[in-house]
Amino acid sequence: MAEVLVYVDHVGGAVRKPTLELLTLARRIGDPVAVHLGPGGAAAAKTLAEYGAVKVLTHEAAEFADYLVVPKVDALQAAYEAVSPAAVLVPSSAEGKEIAARLAVRIGSGIITDAVDLENSDDGPVATQSVFAAAFTTKSRVSRGTPVITVKPNSATPETAPAAGAVDELAVTFSEAATGTKVTARNPRESSGRPELTEAAIVVSGGRGVSGADNFSLIEALADSLGAAVGASRAAVDAGWYPHTNQVGQTGKQVSPQLYIAAGISGAIQHRAGMQTAKTIVAINKDEEAPIFELVDYGVVGDLFDVVPALTEEVKTR
Ligand code: FAD
Repeated sequence: MAEVLVYVDHVGGAVRKPTLELLTLARRIGDPVAVHLGPGGAAAAKTLAEYGAVKVLTHEAAEFADYLVVPKVDALQAAYEAVSPAAVLVPSSAEGKEIAARLAVRIGSGIITDAVDLENSDDGPVATQSVFAAAFTTKSRVSRGTPVITVKPNSATPETAPAAGAVDELAVTFSEAATGTKVTARNPRESSGRPELTEAAIVVSGGRGVSGADNFSLIEALADSLGAAVGASRAAVDAGWYPHTNQVGQTGKQVSPQLYIAAGISGAIQHRAGMQTAKTIVAINKDEEAPIFELVDYGVVGDLFDVVPALTEEVKTR
């Protein structure tokens, strides 16, 4: 069976969920070969093998630890040349998309970004994308070179399929661009302790109806009761009530959680573009004519200042 390269997204060696989803999807196309760059590759191999990696290619160079993209592209290219895979799969993070695009240019291949599903065909992998503010679903195939495909988080449920996961050290020659750049300072944001917005299984978002920065504590309380991430509409972000890093939509982040709860959000097309692929959508809005009700699975017509705290209390009792 053909091999499929899977780029491993990890934090300090610990494999993140989008990679387990990629391994699950990769098995539809061929045998997954995971590429783990940075510290902890050998330890991570056990998890990667549990989810179907037949082989794990590792490299522990310090260059990978500094959020620099080019060293990772050098290494992924080395893995590509060593394996000659049927496809290269990369998680659709900001970094993942840059790595994938640079690799595609280097190897002269076509690229598909933000796939939400993958299947195999006689002519190679077929990727499903959700386009035009999620109004349409398209299926595409790369017709030149080895397909490089980025896949959105939460596109598949990770399924185990134990495989050998033999660890092999990757031989990499770093390019001049990789060695010529250094990170001189880092100012990490204070962590909220909540899941990352694009990876969260549940997202609770607030909009203009929240009516102020302080009131976002209601949205946060509901999110915390559910173990969810917090999102915001652009109106709430533009008003300065919540950071832009939490904006959901066309000019914010695109999320595909299992459950999306929108409170005080009207459902403008640009907001939908970021959340319409959520599996279950719940809206709380006091206007029964609000466009968001056109796409919800469950709608609550009511004042969010009554509904959200009541919902939070109810969830806490479970
Ligand atoms: P509104 O449209 O004002 O809706 C507020 C809703 O809250 C109303 O439906 C109201 O009935 C309800 N409400 C009020 N009070 C309560 C209450 N007490 N209880 C319950 N409900 C209540 N928007 C995004 O979100 N993300 C984007 O990335 C984005 N990108 C954009 C890009 C472009 C190029 C443009 C032109 C626009 C973009 N927008 C984006 C803006 C978008 O068009 C809308 O203006 C925005 O989504 C509206 O935010 P909202 O739903 O919070 O506010």
